Amino acid sequence: MFAAKSVTRAASRHRCWTRFLSTATAAPSSYKVVVVGGGAGGLAVSSTLSQKLGKNEVSVIEPSATHYQQPLFTFVGGGLKSFDEAHRPTSEVVSPDAQWINQAAAHIDPDNNTITLADGAKVSYEYLVVAAGIELNFAGIKGLESSIGKNGVASNYSPHYVQNTYEFLQNVREGNALFTMPATPIKCAGAPQKIAYLADELFCEKGIRDKVAVNYYTALGKIFAIDKYANAMNEVARSRDISVNLFHDLVEVDGAGKKATFKILGSGPQAGETVVVPYEFLHVTPPMKPFDFIKNSAIANGAGYVDVNQGTLQHTKYPNVYAIGDCSSLPTSKTAAAAAAQSSVLKHNLLNQIRGTAAPAAEYNGYTSCPLVTGKHKLVLAEFSGYTGAPHETFFFNQAKEHAFSYWLTADVLPAVYWSSMLKGTWDGPATIRKVANPTSAN
Ligand SMILES: Cc1cc2nc3c(=O)[nH]c(=O)nc-3n(C[C@H](O)[C@H](O)[C@H](O)COP(=O)(O)OP(=O)(O)OC[C@H]3O[C@@H](n4cnc5c(N)ncnc54)[C@H](O)[C@@H]3O)c2cc1C
Repeated sequence: MFAAKSVTRAASRHRCWTRFLSTATAAPSSYKVVVVGGGAGGLAVSSTLSQKLGKNEVSVIEPSATHYQQPLFTFVGGGLKSFDEAHRPTSEVVSPDAQWINQAAAHIDPDNNTITLADGAKVSYEYLVVAAGIELNFAGIKGLESSIGKNGVASNYSPHYVQNTYEFLQNVREGNALFTMPATPIKCAGAPQKIAYLADELFCEKGIRDKVAVNYYTALGKIFAIDKYANAMNEVARSRDISVNLFHDLVEVDGAGKKATFKILGSGPQAGETVVVPYEFLHVTPPMKPFDFIKNSAIANGAGYVDVNQGTLQHTKYPNVYAIGDCSSLPTSKTAAAAAAQSSVLKHNLLNQIRGTAAPAAEYNGYTSCPLVTGKHKLVLAEFSGYTGAPHETFFFNQAKEHAFSYWLTADVLPAVYWSSMLKGTWDGPATIRKVANPTSAN
């Protein structure tokens, strides 16, 4: 049994943390469903399941006392939203019908249906949903850990450094502003370039754009995976005089000397060489990797992600295990939009299994979205299937064009939907809206 202090009942949105602990009660160490991770996907699933299955049948293992709405981090880094809009206490967002276990999962044993927590206690389950996200690997770049948060080095990817982005951008007077994208899979593959467009706009507003070179460095061979949107973003970058450097992987940061070293990838004549670029401002998207507790468990595939069927989200070997979002093996772009679409499929299939109904399985089609903000009131709203590469646009206009409506939707509507609906399990993406707003869409 795990200690009572490690378990909190997320029963009240309004109690302070002290009162929360004092009213915590011992809870069973065994649940119908255990959800590992209380992020975007984990809460979308656990909220519905806990309502359907009854109080305390579902537990959420989540080590962080703060929940972050990460898609807002781009706007925070660009100075368009406050950091306070992007986070809430976890106690307020876990469903009151679920048990929040305020610890990290340390080991998964799917042969015995148990999770070992960081303090060594064990929790057992009948069904498991893994929703732990993906780990930021700042240590994967030499010198980065000792440079970030100072020396003009920031990252929208971490709640610790996202506020540094706007702070350091405002200090720039001249020189190079660099924006990087690593070679590993990452969450929101558009975010590394979004902040370059916002920085460009800020430098223009300050009247210093002619003194600052804005340079985007990506380890990949394209600016965006889907051609329709890659063409649009190449044009946005060209028209703003933002240089796009393909096959450049950030490998070292010299914070004191304000120099960034890139290794050249690909098969060109310079492949394997390194180039050193001086900077005044450096926005780093760190490499990312699967968490070790998943990678080292029997539920992982060779790359370390939870090995699930790409249609049903059910594990390929353990039928009582499912995964959602960034930690899954699903071969689509890792976004909250994708997790929303996956959540309804997962819930449908898992509830069918629990209830023993013979209803047909729901199938996830790879839907994902990347709202590429290019300035205040301008945004390219990429929506597509990561499985086929085909656009899945919700609206009747060409979403590859910068649009004020797309900006309003992303900056003002979707953040409210995230808190009020997605985390409560009632938002599974715009598929229904698409049927009305873009009925002729092939998708
Ligand atoms: C800068 C930035 C911009 C983005 N922009 C967009 C956007 O515009 N649109 C969009 O759709 N998406 C965007 N995303 C991506 C989106 O936030 C993620 O893809 C989404 O949150 C994935 O949901 P998830 O549940 O898989 O993971 P997360 O939401 O990351 O949640 C994972 C949870 O698991 C917890 N956890 C970690 N380790 C453990 C452990 N050992 N045990 C238990 N729990 C654990 C974490 O604390 C976390 O709460 C952006 C992300 C960033 C960083």
